Amino acid sequence: METIEKVTGKCSVCDKRTQGKTNGFLCRKCKQLLDTQKRIKHLKSLSPFDIGWLTGMIEGEGCFYQKGSNCKLKSGNYYCYPLVGFTVMSTDEDVMIRLSNLLQFCIKGPYYTRSKKERKKVWSVQVTGYKAIIIMNYFYEYLGVRRKSQIDLASEWQKIGRFQTTCRTARIKSLRDNITVL
Ligand SMILES: [Zn+2]
Repeated sequence: METIEKVTGKCSVCDKRTQGKTNGFLCRKCKQLLDTQKRIKHLKSLSPFDIGWLTGMIEGEGCFYQKGSNCKLKSGNYYCYPLVGFTVMSTDEDVMIRLSNLLQFCIKGPYYTRSKKERKKVWSVQVTGYKAIIIMNYFYEYLGVRRKSQIDLASEWQKIGRFQTTCRTARIKSLRDNITVL
């Protein structure tokens, strides 16, 4: 089996030392920045009809939410970072393929919904972090009150910064419920 050796070098954009696998080094931050620019350019290239179609889908089947990052154990305590997410779920495969193509996100599924009675196959698009933030910012002005308030909550959550938890997820919910949006 081939082993991929990780080597350290300087990010070709910002000079920060970073790990890479090939000659072209890019740190995580610069990689995210470039991808963000590419994604916004793509969204701007979509027709008003497609943006309207996407807005309707997000309004009807979409959800913006907050969660903790994978918690890391440091000096006996777990630490998490706030993470925002965006998801759209539907039982129509063709509709979800269209959505994932327009947003350029991977499609997940099919899998079954939790309720055993229905046993309906669902497909979803799920992203967290900067990819979710792009959608939050881009579609905010077009969305209704409920989606806007989900985005407002997620934005507040994002600002909390690193927080300590007693176990991997226990305190996240109570923290999240205590966010006050001004
Ligand atoms: Zn960089």
